[in-house]
Amino acid sequence: MSLAAGVGLLSIAQPANASINDMENKKHQIQQKRSNVQSGINKAEAAIKNLQGQQQSVAGKIKNLTNLINETTKEINEKTDKISETKVEIAELRKEIEIVKERMAQREALLKERARAMQASGGNADYLEVLLGSKSFGDFLERVNAVATIMDADQEILRQQEEDKKKLESDQKQLETKLSDLEKMLSDLQAMKAQQKKQVSQLSALMTQLKHKEDETHSHKMDLKEQEELLSAQESSIQQAINLEKTRQAELAAARKRAAEEARQQAALAARQAAQQKASQKTESKAVQSAPAQSSSAPAPAVSSGSFTRPAAGTLSSNFGARWGTKHMGVDIAGPGYIPIVAAADGVVSRAYTSSSYGNVVFISHSINGQVYTTVYAHMQSFSVSTGQVVAKGQQIGVMGSTGQSTGQHLHFELHKGSWNAAKSNAVNPVGIVPF
Ligand SMILES: [Zn+2]
Repeated sequence: MSLAAGVGLLSIAQPANASINDMENKKHQIQQKRSNVQSGINKAEAAIKNLQGQQQSVAGKIKNLTNLINETTKEINEKTDKISETKVEIAELRKEIEIVKERMAQREALLKERARAMQASGGNADYLEVLLGSKSFGDFLERVNAVATIMDADQEILRQQEEDKKKLESDQKQLETKLSDLEKMLSDLQAMKAQQKKQVSQLSALMTQLKHKEDETHSHKMDLKEQEELLSAQESSIQQAINLEKTRQAELAAARKRAAEEARQQAALAARQAAQQKASQKTESKAVQSAPAQSSSAPAPAVSSGSFTRPAAGTLSSNFGARWGTKHMGVDIAGPGYIPIVAAADGVVSRAYTSSSYGNVVFISHSINGQVYTTVYAHMQSFSVSTGQVVAKGQQIGVMGSTGQSTGQHLHFELHKGSWNAAKSNAVNPVGIVPF
């Protein structure tokens, strides 16, 4: 009997070694993936730094342009003020010119009136009267001088007025030139400001683009980080499974050694008893001696590795495969009320957390007949296990719910042959493997 047990243990030990090798391979694959993901994260970080640098430079340019626009606006205001001042000056000059013109017209009218009167009287009536009214020759000369002075004065006033008018007109011309220069400068400044504003809006658009790109890179980095965390959790759960397998194998080896020792002792005992039987024919001692060997030789029944159990009660409401134009990478089990969710097989919880899409979700790594499987239990109301925990087939891990991206209470259950990845490329149809 002990011999038979030893042989049985030997045959179990063989696939166990293969299982460890397989798990080591899986672990190396995951480590490789992690280093790829890590280099992706490093690249994303470098890209973010670069994008932030670009944004800083663009922000600097925008600041400089804003300062320039402020200066241009100040100049525009100054020019606008000067233009209105110049317009006022021009208006005043025009008024003055009008006044001078008015005065000159009056004076000219007066002189013409005088000339007409002189012609009517065959000479200058006023002057003649003045001259003829002289009492003596001395008085006459004095009166001639006076008349000449009056006439000169008239001429002088006219000349002066003409000069004033010319001066005013030249002033007006100068001011008009100044005004048109100012208006030209103003329109140049306004064009410049429009150009600067256009540059600012272009830079702002670039800034928005850079920010958007940075946001995208951030979320890409977060995705990679989440993937990295999952891979890291899977690696440590596989390591734990390896350790468990090694312990189990050590226990098996010890049991095998014990069994071999017992077999040897039994053989020796049997030989001794045979010898004693031959010698004395005493049979009672054999029954007494064989009892302790029997009690320690029964190995614990092998945990049903390779067999799964249904993860929850309820109806299979959605199958694996195409659904609404997208691929459904698992099956849905739906039902009302309190429905416990259990581990589909023995394994190690590789991750238990709250995801925005999966809701409350538990990932379990299994090593079954040398094959690594990962099961996923999503949308749970709550979970009662934690990352790294060893769970037994049928052990409750949570309660059915509708958390994350879910419509109505159900369990979304995934089975992956190998480890989980974001593309779910290892997902297989659990129907036929897991009993439903
Ligand atoms: Zn589903």
